Amino acid sequence: MQNWDEKLNSLQKQGLYRKLKELGQAQKPWTVVDGQKVLLLASNNYLGLTTNSQVIDRTVEVIEEYGTGSGGSRLTTGSYDLHQELEKRLARFKGAEAAIIFNTGYMANLGVLTTIVREGDLILSDQLNHASIIDGCRLSKADVEIYHHADLEELEAKLAESQDYNSRLIVTDGVFSMDGDLAPLPKIVELAKKYNALTMVDDAHGTGVLGEQGGGIVEYFDLKEEIDIQLGTLSKALAAEGGFVAGSELVVDLLRNQARSFIYSTALAPGTIAAALSALDYLESNSDLIIELRKNIRLLKDGLKKLGYQVLDSQSAIIPIMIGSSQQTMQLSSRLLEEQVFVSGIRPPTVPKGSSRIRVTVMTSHTKEDIEFALDKFFKVGKELGII
Ligand SMILES: *Cc1c(COP(=O)(O)O)cnc(C)c1O
Repeated sequence: MQNWDEKLNSLQKQGLYRKLKELGQAQKPWTVVDGQKVLLLASNNYLGLTTNSQVIDRTVEVIEEYGTGSGGSRLTTGSYDLHQELEKRLARFKGAEAAIIFNTGYMANLGVLTTIVREGDLILSDQLNHASIIDGCRLSKADVEIYHHADLEELEAKLAESQDYNSRLIVTDGVFSMDGDLAPLPKIVELAKKYNALTMVDDAHGTGVLGEQGGGIVEYFDLKEEIDIQLGTLSKALAAEGGFVAGSELVVDLLRNQARSFIYSTALAPGTIAAALSALDYLESNSDLIIELRKNIRLLKDGLKKLGYQVLDSQSAIIPIMIGSSQQTMQLSSRLLEEQVFVSGIRPPTVPKGSSRIRVTVMTSHTKEDIEFALDKFFKVGKELGII
């Protein structure tokens, strides 16, 4: 007990103690956080589909028909026709032969990385990859080489040096979650071919956002046949929860048979699957949602730059505003919250020391007035704190 206390005290002393913020309403542009009405610029619900009436209606219908829980793991009693249907849809959406659903993106990374590589293999992993990739690498027992963020020369050097390994896997986020930039995927594919390595991309933040159909980074770069493993989530633009892996029939069959995070966990509930299916349906016939999202991204990003903020040039719905010190970052985010603008302050260990930032995310459902409201507040508070 004393030890637990000490751990918490030490976090508090370093300014790294974390507290939950409570949402009291749906993830719409205006919501309620800790009892206060705020403009939400911190959600991954990029296309606003969690509150889309078509998605909700279909989900309610399915719950009435199938009930609430799934009642078992996929390999026992929990595998519904809906799961199969969604897996087929996801495979098509990602341009792959097959797909398999996991309960979260986190579990998908653990499942795939512990199954497709093993002791004696090598994983080459971007320094800024998501924590679930890092944990999957650790659990896989393979050797891991970390290359500096998007550093292709270093990646090539590491590939050239490691040709004695049986099997080598290059793994990268598609859209990097704290910087919002894209992996240099065409070049990674070239290197993988040259050195006979496998490729895996985690496109949690690109799915539903990049590419004309929202297929993600692989559609964006037109690399459909070239990536061995595509991982995505249902939890961000696709308005539900869960993760999935798309790839060859062979790799999906192997995952179904061997991925422990797939086998030993209860299947996602019918309603969750219905929400993801309906989100995909809606997106398929309303791809203008993505165009609207891009307009909002541009409007907010250009506005922030014009105010004098140092905005990273991301190509996704993630807009990082670099501040540097964690104190100033937290000051800015808490002042903005007082002014009814909810953005995330991001500090170490999530990002490297000295690169604390405000992470703004935009949704299709934000109006021009919402974005102007945010820019007004960013101007006021930025001047007040001497940041701009
Ligand atoms: C959000 C995210 C995950 C985890 O997905 P969940 O469904 O939230 O568990 C994995 N990888 C990346 C890059 C992410 O951004």
